Amino acid sequence: MDPLPYLAGYPVDVQMRARELRNAGRLGDYLARRYPDAHGVRNDRQLYAYVQALKDRHLRQSTPLHKAIYDGKLQVLRHALGTHTTVSRVQGGRLKASREIRIASVFRDAPAAFLETSVVHELAHLKESEHNRAFYNLCTHMAPDYHQLEFDLRLYLMHRDASSASQT
Ligand SMILES: [Zn+2]
Repeated sequence: MDPLPYLAGYPVDVQMRARELRNAGRLGDYLARRYPDAHGVRNDRQLYAYVQALKDRHLRQSTPLHKAIYDGKLQVLRHALGTHTTVSRVQGGRLKASREIRIASVFRDAPAAFLETSVVHELAHLKESEHNRAFYNLCTHMAPDYHQLEFDLRLYLMHRDASSASQT
């Protein structure tokens, strides 16, 4: 069986069902039916406002965010859900940690739900660097159906790869 890199962490039966869906050419339909809505977050300024609004709603107390950008160079396969970096800056003589969030550019044209999923994931990393239970608790606090969303987001990336491969 060919591996499914996006679903490497999931149970074998789940991977099998995803593979069947893909091989039957039904991934696109499945995703379009479940996630019909696009979003209007077109540029970095809008992305920052979007991320900040989610943060204010759910994680007001966490580390300040100084930047949020779409990054066209992010390796979607390796960093399917963006990256998160801590940038230390000297401010008025003391070191201040502040964070920036980078979202892979593929999410600019993805369904609204997947941009949200990606942002929720990165916001949770403001408090938890590992993918542990506390991390996923934060994710489901922000998006109650986070686990389903992350899974479907991975299907979306898989579908994207499959359709660009079939066009070459
Ligand atoms: Zn992560």
